[in-house]
Amino acid sequence: GSSETLLEVTDMVVNYGRIQALHGISLRVAAGELVTLLGANGAGKTTTMRALSGLLPLTRGRIMFEGRDITHMKAHERVGEGLIQAPEGRGVFPGMTVQENLDMGCYGRPFKQKAEYAKTLEWVFELFPRMAERRKQVGGTLSGGEQQMLAIGRSLMARPRLLLLDEPSMGLAPMIIQQIFRIITEINQQGTTVLLVEQNAQQALSRSDRAYIMETGEVTKTGSGRELLTDPSVKSAYLGVG
Ligand code: ATP
Repeated sequence: GSSETLLEVTDMVVNYGRIQALHGISLRVAAGELVTLLGANGAGKTTTMRALSGLLPLTRGRIMFEGRDITHMKAHERVGEGLIQAPEGRGVFPGMTVQENLDMGCYGRPFKQKAEYAKTLEWVFELFPRMAERRKQVGGTLSGGEQQMLAIGRSLMARPRLLLLDEPSMGLAPMIIQQIFRIITEINQQGTTVLLVEQNAQQALSRSDRAYIMETGEVTKTGSGRELLTDPSVKSAYLGVG
């Protein structure tokens, strides 16, 4: 991949009231990469994603995106810059159809041309053929896996420069998890940079260019997916072997 830096986080501190959840983390995502944040429950992965999306303020530190300082930029402005966090599967609009849910992904980011919208929709339907079949079905009646796919599809409608995915495999059956991982890899290989939070260490590491291990609000280790898959301490802590 390319070595052009897309996202650079430096010394990020985030507090919940008087509780410090992130103690100064630094990480980098290059254009084209698939990068995973791995860590136990409570390590601060979701907090990191929410801070990147602009949903939590930084107490200290800096976020650079495409060479611009976005540390103080509001969440909707970051969306406009192409920094898109997919909602969780349960975050789809239950009363809206699949098609309407996808259209919501473009909300606030109107396409300049109808053709561009049609092309993006076609791309999403190619990635998720099931969504094309179900375009008139309401979101609330989709299966858990289908809702997760719709949630990812919706965020793709905004044409992300960086796609943030927080545990997209959560609560899904093994076969669906495989499918979700395959699609994430495909999205990445087609050119979208992805920052992924996952508990599913084996799958995530084997598909990632690089990963960061987080423990209690700090980054404790980083390396290529391959390196970390064979790292003894990572193996015993996250891969259930060693
Ligand atoms: P999980 O895998 O369980 O989702 P995580 O790595 O995403 O864990 P976070 O949810 O980011 O971890 O939580 C990091 C720390 O911040 C934890 O100690 C958690 O208890 C704390 N925390 C999270 N949300 C809040 C909140 N709204 N108020 C206070 N503390 C919070």
